[in-house]
Amino acid sequence: LRKKVVLGIDIGGTNTKFGLVDIQGKIYIQHSLPTNAENPPENLLERLFAKLKEMLAAEQEEYQIVGIGIGAPNGNYYSGKIESPPNLKWPTVNFVQMVRKYYDVPTRLTNDANAAALGEMEFGAARGMRNFVEITLGTGLGSGIVVNGEVVYGSDGFAGELGHVIVRPGGRKCGCGRNGCLEAYASATGIRATVLEMIGNNEHDSSLATIPVEKLTAKDIFDAAEAGDQLAKEAFKFTGEILGHALANTVAHLSPEAFILFGGLASAGELLFNPVKQALEESVLYIFRGKCKIVNSGLAEGQAAILGASALIWHELHMTQN
Ligand SMILES: [Zn+2]
Repeated sequence: LRKKVVLGIDIGGTNTKFGLVDIQGKIYIQHSLPTNAENPPENLLERLFAKLKEMLAAEQEEYQIVGIGIGAPNGNYYSGKIESPPNLKWPTVNFVQMVRKYYDVPTRLTNDANAAALGEMEFGAARGMRNFVEITLGTGLGSGIVVNGEVVYGSDGFAGELGHVIVRPGGRKCGCGRNGCLEAYASATGIRATVLEMIGNNEHDSSLATIPVEKLTAKDIFDAAEAGDQLAKEAFKFTGEILGHALANTVAHLSPEAFILFGGLASAGELLFNPVKQALEESVLYIFRGKCKIVNSGLAEGQAAILGASALIWHELHMTQN
């Protein structure tokens, strides 16, 4: 009997990861290869499927690939297209169509944040939840919104861009070209900018002031805060508060059961979670007070992307079984 698995593919600006995932969220084969986004996407797929074939040939177990789930920047669930993402040099490409030349199985695509939300619902901290928002705090801020057990894709496939909600009109320049987006504050890039501003204002003496600007990372800020650095702690508080106030608005729209925080900054734990919770409770409409949880991701950092991508298919299969 062949083992039923989904091929999960996560396309990043630098690396593309893939793996075979069973219905329990166990990963069997996995591999990472350079995306080489300066080449056309066909080049990536050729290398990926050649590698997969080679790995499958070396396995004892026989696998049946029941579907392919793909997480990609600007991935559109409705069209199966990757729409000219900023970190890949591709034009808009019909990626699902290209993949199906290799494997003619159900194939779904969405952006990485939506895939993370589905991964959380199938295998992580959102098991059993039907209304929640996944927030990925990486270089930027991504979000996947789940309402009534389904990811919200919106009219065009791009719904769920909490990172680009404007929290400070006329504020910091965001990567999207506008000013004052949440992502410009609540992300690794954002907390770095906060620290540099605070150092510039001489708010506190800080060990971070000795690190060359171009070398300063969110991890340095975390380490400094853990070591008791006042400025670093203030930076986390400021970041958490902006995020918490923004999430209070999201609660007004969606009344989610929880926000699930995932990614580099989320591993700061209480340093970030406490100010988020406080600001959320402070700002939220009274009928929602004390109802919405802020929880950590239940997906292992190194596995989340592949699990999320595969969950696109497993979720669909679960839905059709029910
Ligand atoms: Zn923006």
